[in-house]
Amino acid sequence: MKDRPIKLRPHHLLCHKGFRGLGYDESFVKTFEKVVRLLDEPAQLIEVVGEPDEVCLSCPHLAGGRCLKGNEKVSHLDSDVIELLGIGRGQVITAAELRALLEKVTGRDIERICRECEWLLLGLCTEAFKKTEN
Ligand code: SF4
Repeated sequence: MKDRPIKLRPHHLLCHKGFRGLGYDESFVKTFEKVVRLLDEPAQLIEVVGEPDEVCLSCPHLAGGRCLKGNEKVSHLDSDVIELLGIGRGQVITAAELRALLEKVTGRDIERICRECEWLLLGLCTEAFKKTEN
């Protein structure tokens, strides 16, 4: 699997750190668990995409290639994450490189960037990134 890049949209590069087995349905959770396992491998390649990714393809809120949770909102979120991490759509990075980029992300960044995400209220994502704060 390492030779084939996993396609991920920018905000899922953050989400995977706060994932604790919760999700929209069983298929979504299974896919996210697989993504988390893959990203544990430092050499795993990741292609940053600007479209529905491997997680979205298992999501009940994807219809006709659009996110029913709010396509514009999700696109803005992706753009904010691109700016935060200094990466580009179409870029291929390793999981080790992603880990290094995420070291610089703080819980405050998450509270700002993900303020419109319903999952933020659980506090899991902020907590996951608080560990990297000094
Ligand atoms: S809610 Fe939208 S962005 Fe999130 S996984 Fe589902 S389709 Fe993708």
